Amino acid sequence: MKAVYTPRHLAHDVTRETFLGESIPAHEVVARAESIRAALEADGGFELVGPTEHGREPIEAVHDPGLVRFLEEAWPAVERERVARGALIADTYPSRPMFEGMSDAVVAARPEPEAIGGRAGWWGLDTANPIVAGTSDAARGAVDVALTTLDLVLGGERVAYGLCRPPGHHAARSMAAGYCFLNNAAIAAEAAVRATGERVAILDLDFHHGNGTQQIFWRRGDVFYASLHGDPRRIYPFFLGHADEVGEGAGAGENLNVPLPAGTGDEAYLEALERALAAIADRPGSLVIVSLGFDTYRDDPICDFALTTPIYHEIGRQVASLGRRLVVLQEGGYHLPTLGANAVSWLRGADGRAGVSRP
Ligand SMILES: [Zn+2]
Repeated sequence: MKAVYTPRHLAHDVTRETFLGESIPAHEVVARAESIRAALEADGGFELVGPTEHGREPIEAVHDPGLVRFLEEAWPAVERERVARGALIADTYPSRPMFEGMSDAVVAARPEPEAIGGRAGWWGLDTANPIVAGTSDAARGAVDVALTTLDLVLGGERVAYGLCRPPGHHAARSMAAGYCFLNNAAIAAEAAVRATGERVAILDLDFHHGNGTQQIFWRRGDVFYASLHGDPRRIYPFFLGHADEVGEGAGAGENLNVPLPAGTGDEAYLEALERALAAIADRPGSLVIVSLGFDTYRDDPICDFALTTPIYHEIGRQVASLGRRLVVLQEGGYHLPTLGANAVSWLRGADGRAGVSRP
């Protein structure tokens, strides 16, 4: 199987994040992607290829150009404004009640702030998006990885894997969030629709709800979004991911959220997966984008499911049994010691290869 990787992610070298107001060691770190790359190389069944540049056009087909501009300008502004921090993390966000009673037109006319702290809040959701000098370039590299993976599949590969970092599924049209800056899967899905004229399905198997992907395609009938995730009543992103969010307008019925309880294990997860796969099989189209996270693993430090390494092989096998072309893109997963083995397990399953027995 071809796997797309670029060292450009190394420039997004984040060491700290803020959690409930406290600065803690970052979870979304360089070592994540490097451990997966090492496991793919050690397996021997993957051919690593570099991405090709796709420019900003496919990005701005999905994202507000202002978000792309902000990411480019953020670190130079930090240096210009002499913000004495290792990373830019906003602490003031435009929460909805701030505008209560004001008309949509008046709210929409509020100008983007000038100070970089204000801009980071304007274009962000939360404090899990530390921006450093190389963040913009790394995010652009991850998009190129995703689009190159799509190119491989459009060029005849049945399945290909993009080792995207930073991840993307929390990033909405005009908002970075939860370690994500640009929505790699959404950008690939939009490009796939434009290239094929077909309907496309996105299957989100990260532990968290992909609020950004849902938002981007909320009113779209040509992109079906299905997500299995920790129930937002207890889990980030807290405000979206409920089962009654089904899309609106042309997108009505084209959004499937399957929130799951704490402790969800292999068997319960496979049952939920069956629902999502059946919904995809019911719809036309030949291509599925998979937002793949391994934060569903039982020892993940920030999540509460209980999946095991062998089950990833079975999940990959079942997703491939849809008989559709698969563009598999990396999202989350934070238990470094098993990240590589879990990725290899999933991808071998999707590739029709036997699983490997590992502890
Ligand atoms: Zn996640």
